[in-house]
Amino acid sequence: MTNHLFYQSRLPRPDLQKAEGIYMWDTAGKRYIDGSSGAMVSNIGHSNPNVLAAMREQMDKSTFGYRLHFQTEPSEALAARISGLTPEGLDRVFFVSGGSEAVESALKMARQYALTQGEAQRYKVISRYPSYHGATLGALAITGYAPMSAPFDPMMKSMPKIPAPRAYLDGMDADDPATGLHYANMLEEKILEEGPSTVLAFIVEPVGGASTGALVPPAGYMQRIREICDQYGVLLIHDEVMTGGGRTGRFFGAEHWDVAPDLIALSKGFGAGYVPLGAMIARNDMVEAVLDAGGFIHGYTYAGNPLACAAGLAVLEEIERQDLVGNAAAMGDALTDRLQALMQRYPVIGDVRGKGLLLAFELMADRNTKAPLPVDLNAHSRLVDIAYENGLIIYSRRTRGGLSGDHFLVCPPMSVNEPQLDEIAEILERSMQQFMAENPTL
Ligand code: PMP
Repeated sequence: MTNHLFYQSRLPRPDLQKAEGIYMWDTAGKRYIDGSSGAMVSNIGHSNPNVLAAMREQMDKSTFGYRLHFQTEPSEALAARISGLTPEGLDRVFFVSGGSEAVESALKMARQYALTQGEAQRYKVISRYPSYHGATLGALAITGYAPMSAPFDPMMKSMPKIPAPRAYLDGMDADDPATGLHYANMLEEKILEEGPSTVLAFIVEPVGGASTGALVPPAGYMQRIREICDQYGVLLIHDEVMTGGGRTGRFFGAEHWDVAPDLIALSKGFGAGYVPLGAMIARNDMVEAVLDAGGFIHGYTYAGNPLACAAGLAVLEEIERQDLVGNAAAMGDALTDRLQALMQRYPVIGDVRGKGLLLAFELMADRNTKAPLPVDLNAHSRLVDIAYENGLIIYSRRTRGGLSGDHFLVCPPMSVNEPQLDEIAEILERSMQQFMAENPTL
């Protein structure tokens, strides 16, 4: 397979032999720590025996039942389980096979609901810049990341965007509620600019993912966003594809701010790398309205696949049995301490941020001015390669065009323990030393 377009690694990647817990081995026997859970996916660790057993058991019963022909026990059980974790009144679950599908489904549910309300003029979906919501054309249209969307612009409907609340770059205090208001009010301005009656929805990642590098919203932001959406009849979609499933130290990222959306997109840690699985969760009354009007005009062949749902159910059971959400919160604090200590020793680290085990650090040429490193240094790729050689996998992104610098997500599985965090910190330290030795002028 070809590497990611913007991830220009100088190293060829080896063949994967096996994986267990937070560790992975290549066919030459070299061991790696999965310090980013793949792409923030393998939340409960690799090769969990209970999940594998549940999958085998389901495989012996059935691996596919088309949703228009059969209900299946795993999908019913998983939907019931999930609705026990969602905010009040969001109990209707639509299964899909990934994050982009979950986002597409949320967009279409929002639109169909607006039609049932006699609001056919509402179609604009406001999102943030930078952001990532998926690779399919609908999800890409609302993705605020030009390097990925630009080639396809003529094929998509252009959608309005507001800046993500990157208080650290703008020199604002993220703990000051005035900062949250400042950024949230940009949504109101955008709604007014676009014409409130044309705006269908606003989509937000509660804690930013790959595009912003674990951006935590400033105080009051999430609450004010909810108020603005209510005021203008705009639906609020939480993209919990990366944050959902416990990674931030709560099952849903938005629980940190006690706000409920109208729609949720979930994936990644939901299938936790065992199966392709995602879900779109919607307000009950919205789903009722759409069903009464003739049904949801949308669906995927693999939606509600029994094997995927059986695995998803077993993943949820493991999360609860081992209290992995609690562990993500505790280990997140412990890992934050280690990253902050690293920042003390390396001035080139300009910021450490995140929640729970959705954590990132960012390299900068100057901590005070927040100036990014020169593009041709390719730091996002080089530091990842050094760490990889040292046996630690981390995830990086350089958002271009003055968007941001080089950031690195350090997001091990939620099952990680303190000694393993020490291993991660030790390899990071060694890798930073090597990176600095290669770039003595920094
Ligand atoms: N939304 C968010 C917040 C994501 O992080 C991602 C994946 N990185 C997606 C949507 C798209 O998910 P997928 O790659 O599974 O289609």
